[in-house]
Amino acid sequence: MTLTSSVSPWREIQRKNFVHLKPLLDFLELSPIQRKEIDFSPSFQLNLPIRLAEKIKKQTLNDPLLLQFVPLKLEKQVTSGFSLHPVEDNAFRQETRYLQKYKGRALLLTTSACAMHCRYCFRQNFEYGYVNDLSQELRLIESNPSLHEVILSGGDPLSLSDEKLSSLLDTLERFEPITKVRFHTRFPIGIPERLDESFLKILKNRRFEIYFVFHINHAQELDEEIIYAIKRLKQLGITTLNQAVLLKNVNDNFETQLELHQVLIDHGILPYYLHQLDRVEGSAHFESSPDLGRKIITYLRNHLPGYAIPTYVQEIPNEPSKTPL
Ligand SMILES: *Cc1c(COP(=O)(O)O)cnc(C)c1O
Ligand code: SF4
Repeated sequence: MTLTSSVSPWREIQRKNFVHLKPLLDFLELSPIQRKEIDFSPSFQLNLPIRLAEKIKKQTLNDPLLLQFVPLKLEKQVTSGFSLHPVEDNAFRQETRYLQKYKGRALLLTTSACAMHCRYCFRQNFEYGYVNDLSQELRLIESNPSLHEVILSGGDPLSLSDEKLSSLLDTLERFEPITKVRFHTRFPIGIPERLDESFLKILKNRRFEIYFVFHINHAQELDEEIIYAIKRLKQLGITTLNQAVLLKNVNDNFETQLELHQVLIDHGILPYYLHQLDRVEGSAHFESSPDLGRKIITYLRNHLPGYAIPTYVQEIPNEPSKTPL
């Protein structure tokens, strides 16, 4: 008799992520000359689900997905104005895993783990610190009746087990003033299998409103299975939004942004923010100009309905909200 494995299928998939460069570069069929551009000792480790790797065009360095996930030597460039901690999260950190920058909403750094590593991630040097559980953080939420929304971020909250998420939501449900819980996640873009029956069950029949904010930068990241998984969230009455980052040579042109925003609204995912890049060290080659960003927004406005237009913002520490550009 064999024992049934207790490991979820999505975890098995995650374990097969590319975390070593050689097998990935072979898979992508990069030539020796192309490999000279690759950084083989990146400070932020390679981590890429197979599903996303399969969407990268073979033998192509300037693929919009390759650029987002594969470390290039360009990351080693030192550029003034770029720093390890560009958004100064630590100044707003009231507990190890608790940030409050804005009125009425607090952010929980539920985990440091992600389904993939994005080269431009502004939190790549963040010291998450060890916590046994989030009890200190939850105590802060409980004792602050002016909070009406809790944002589950990280890392990626969907890296947590269903058991942990379920117990977290149960606790938040007991805090009367909390009317909204928001997930900030990119997990389903790499591993849509994460949105399985067991997870959906956890979200069902909650007292609070649930929002999902995805992070999708390019239409090429999407496929039928991802769209279907998101549809199932919507069927539970969950509002689905998207934030994208404006990235040079990845999505900083009219056609790419038009296609992305078109496909998002075609599937009921409302564009929320388009972020100006946070200036984290090693990401200077991703920076696009605010001037181009504004032109892109105007272009979108001239082609799409009003609800398809994200707010173009920049994170400026010590402002009362993200700053519209
Ligand atoms: C971006 C951010 C939020 C969310 O801001 P919204 O404008 O509500 O999306 C909350 N807390 C922190 C620390 C943030 O950086
Ligand atoms: S998924 Fe989000 S938190 Fe994780 S590496 Fe990418 S940008 Fe950073």
